[in-house]
Amino acid sequence: MAEPTAGWGGRRVLVCGVGVAGSAAARALLAAGASVELTASSEGDAVAGLVTAGARWLGPLIRLPGEVGLVVASPGLRPHDPLLTDAAARGVPVWGEVELAWQLRRPGAAPWLAVTGTNGKTTTVHMLESMLRAAGLRAIAVGNVGEPLVDAVLADPPYDVLAVELSSQQLHFAPSVAPAAGALLNLAPDHLDWHDSLDAYEQAKVGVWAGAVPIGNADDPRVAALMSPGAVGFTFGEPAAGQLGVVDGRLVSRAFGDDGLALVEVADVRPAGRHNVANALAAAALARSMGVGPHAVTSGLREFAPDPHRNQPVLTRGGVSWVDDSKATNPHAASASLAAYPRIVWIAGGQLKGVAVDELIAAHAHRLTGAVLLGQDRAVVAAALARHAPDVPVIVVDSTEHGAMTEVVRAAAGLARPGDTVLLAPAAASYDMFSDFGARGDAFADAARSLPSDGSA
Ligand code: ADP
Repeated sequence: MAEPTAGWGGRRVLVCGVGVAGSAAARALLAAGASVELTASSEGDAVAGLVTAGARWLGPLIRLPGEVGLVVASPGLRPHDPLLTDAAARGVPVWGEVELAWQLRRPGAAPWLAVTGTNGKTTTVHMLESMLRAAGLRAIAVGNVGEPLVDAVLADPPYDVLAVELSSQQLHFAPSVAPAAGALLNLAPDHLDWHDSLDAYEQAKVGVWAGAVPIGNADDPRVAALMSPGAVGFTFGEPAAGQLGVVDGRLVSRAFGDDGLALVEVADVRPAGRHNVANALAAAALARSMGVGPHAVTSGLREFAPDPHRNQPVLTRGGVSWVDDSKATNPHAASASLAAYPRIVWIAGGQLKGVAVDELIAAHAHRLTGAVLLGQDRAVVAAALARHAPDVPVIVVDSTEHGAMTEVVRAAAGLARPGDTVLLAPAAASYDMFSDFGARGDAFADAARSLPSDGSA
């Protein structure tokens, strides 16, 4: 790794959270010569190594130690955390790892092409990474995905361009980040337990437009209402001047000086579905903003390997398809997922993060042939099903122990008929029962594969 920029010598920085991003931030700050102190709710595995490298472990804190000049906060910390409130009261700046990475860039650093939105971020930055690489650029998808941003900005040899996924929490703590181009994919209620309100969530998200080229989903009413007239829109319909869109089954650009430039066939977009065409249009717009040509856009999308746990087929048995969309961690994602199948045994529940599921269930009740509910907010989902889909048979699994997913999958197998899809699209986060959405998806797939081969429950 190359030396970061100068100017940090002796500066006292408190790093809050010692997960992957916090540890990378602490190491970069130590390399820059800062005096690094560490706090977290518990001493994770990384602390010993960081202390050996020169950091001081302070244990859990609720007040800022004196003379700290900067706080680097993990995105897990809420804005109203006592430590951050104390920092605000004392006028001490609070940065996330993303802001730190932005500040550590050297002159001539790689431009950032940023992506945010309630859903589709990871898919889009990976599509973009694939297009940029197809254009021969040294590019990597980073941010809320992959390696920490501080490592990517300090990489030696340097990258040509970074495809940066930014969550609303990361944007909240990134006050001066101004990506070369930034795309807002969609906006729907999520993380309302972290942000105080939908308005605060939206305000964090529009931070992605702080740079020169704002790009937004013209088909999403919330995004469209926030876009300035000069922004580059993308649409599933025919594009107006200054937009990208779809004409005769092709993704086409009428922005960046293009006059109907054909980029790629809709059929080349995987996973299939309207929402992934929107993701591909956003990635193509970001790539075009860097002058990436249509051939690289096409081959980038053809070579793109969809990420696991996102509408991933697990198996088909006895005429029943089993699909893992564990990454559908909010109702907006679950809605895109449910819309793709006509008859569904729906597996849902977990942590709803303060978001209602009434609209989701009312919109998709006609597709549901059954539902199996698990996790912390299972009763909330059950009540919404009773209100909006009273005829759908519902099984609630109360166990939250290891093995509960086996019970869930058996219950789903009992409800499913040939032609049905058993869809894990929980509309909720997984942390109440699993280490993350990947572990939840794996538990589902393992249990489905372990069902008796005659398909009986
Ligand atoms: P993120 O990184 O924003 O969580 P992912 O690409 O990992 O997004 O996809 C998360 C979930 O959202 C998946 O379940 C997927 O089916 C769904 N999804 C992906 N793109 C979109 C979109 N543009 N609109 C709505 N849902 C989407």
